[in-house]
Amino acid sequence: MTTDKVTLAVLGASGDLTSRLLLPGLATLLAGRPDLDVHLVGAATETYTDEEWKTRVREALTTNACPDHARERVVAGTRYTTLDVTSPEQMATFLASLSDDRPVVLYFALPPAVTIAACRVLAQLDLPDDLRLALEKPFGESEESAREFNRLLTSFVREEQIFRVDHFLGRATVLNIVGLRFGNRVLSRVWSSDDIESIEIIYDEQIALEDRAGYYDKAGALRDMLQSHLLLVMAMLMMEAPSRVDAVELRDLIGHLLRATRLYGDDPVASSHRARYTAGDVDGREIPSYVDERGVDPARCTETLSEITVEVANARWKGVPVTLRSGKALGGRREIVVRFRPVAHVPVGFVDDPAPDVLRFGMNPETLSLRMATSGAEGAFDFSTVDLQAELGDSEMRPYGEILSYIIAGDPLLSVRGDVAEECWRIVDPVLAAWAADEVPLEEYPVGSAGPEQWLRAAAGEDGHPG
Ligand code: NDP
Repeated sequence: MTTDKVTLAVLGASGDLTSRLLLPGLATLLAGRPDLDVHLVGAATETYTDEEWKTRVREALTTNACPDHARERVVAGTRYTTLDVTSPEQMATFLASLSDDRPVVLYFALPPAVTIAACRVLAQLDLPDDLRLALEKPFGESEESAREFNRLLTSFVREEQIFRVDHFLGRATVLNIVGLRFGNRVLSRVWSSDDIESIEIIYDEQIALEDRAGYYDKAGALRDMLQSHLLLVMAMLMMEAPSRVDAVELRDLIGHLLRATRLYGDDPVASSHRARYTAGDVDGREIPSYVDERGVDPARCTETLSEITVEVANARWKGVPVTLRSGKALGGRREIVVRFRPVAHVPVGFVDDPAPDVLRFGMNPETLSLRMATSGAEGAFDFSTVDLQAELGDSEMRPYGEILSYIIAGDPLLSVRGDVAEECWRIVDPVLAAWAADEVPLEEYPVGSAGPEQWLRAAAGEDGHPG
């Protein structure tokens, strides 16, 4: 599906997301499709003149190989409106000013509570039939609030008009997984609990809070990363094979997988861990303990590292522990690790048992490696291991450019469907409740480390590979 022209109206145009991710994402999209005719309209409560806005847009588009002529065309046509999205009168006037001969995408780069207020306003207005809403996470704060938000949205637009953005769905890792899984017989035959013993999805960030306490101290690592991004990565890794890649089938299969997912042992206490960082030195920079960062309220007990283990309780995956982990101020381990079961029988005469196979998808940079057993290198019938390694391709356009291109084309393939957003919350809600009731200890780890010592010992016990 392609669209040649679109009006992209960004609500929250003066914010961090717009300048740091959305407009640079548009730049990568224009690099690939320089003839795309985007009429960009910025709006926020901040007062900018059109010239000030154009300067911001030009700066944000001067990146990611955006061709000069494509950038200047967007800059020449863009305009800015001072707008309070919670005012019905102002929103009605704003929407009327957008309607022309092209589809309109309303991109909500707003704080979550303001997005909900804006949607309540939209629900009272007369809207064009082909209006598209692009919404940023979080999609609610619990299963119940996600459901309520979905009810609100579908009271005034159809689900096909809603594009819930989770940029992990546009990441090269996720798209590479789909090709690797469904293009290779050697993988498709072993992709179940018959051959796979455990899976880990780890996304550790090196950066600490970086002055984002306003958002992060209320969210924490579980809500920020696991609930949304990593559960979707898991779904793409473990879902059934689609017969075709389209928005209906792919999202049905993601929903299907998540509906079967539950906390391991149905026990939110035993299946979860949380921790926060303590002060340290990273690359000569002194980082304070999380509790001493500006804007943090220590009483909130916000975790900067979270880990949960889930099980996909269906015929393919039952019994396989899947561990999801993400945190800040860590060593930066980012990978999916698929551990295979030991071989059924080792021929008598070999010196010892072979190490089980391990498949790793590295995230950013995108790599693939497969550890396999061989013999002959050390002794004729003595096992050793070999690592087959490859760098995987990436596209300049990812991930925001990729996501935007689908939104602009009106194709929700890479958007999160409403029921999927609810499922993600259903899975983590019991953990959030157990943490709120202080049933799981809040541990600590030094900045720049690989995590709390106890966790590392547990991981090293599994395969001697702490990270
Ligand atoms: P910011 O606080 O940086 O920006 C919020 C924007 O909303 C500002 O432009 C602000 O305008 C505008 N705004 C607030 N109230 C109103 C109102 N009543 N009417 C019109 N505009 C209003 O937030 P972010 O950009 O960081 O985040 C935006 C969304 O994106 C959030 O949902 C966040 O969860 C999500 N997100 C952010 C990421 C990031 O890295 N920043 C990453 C992934 C998702 P003004 O200043 O003029 O009031």
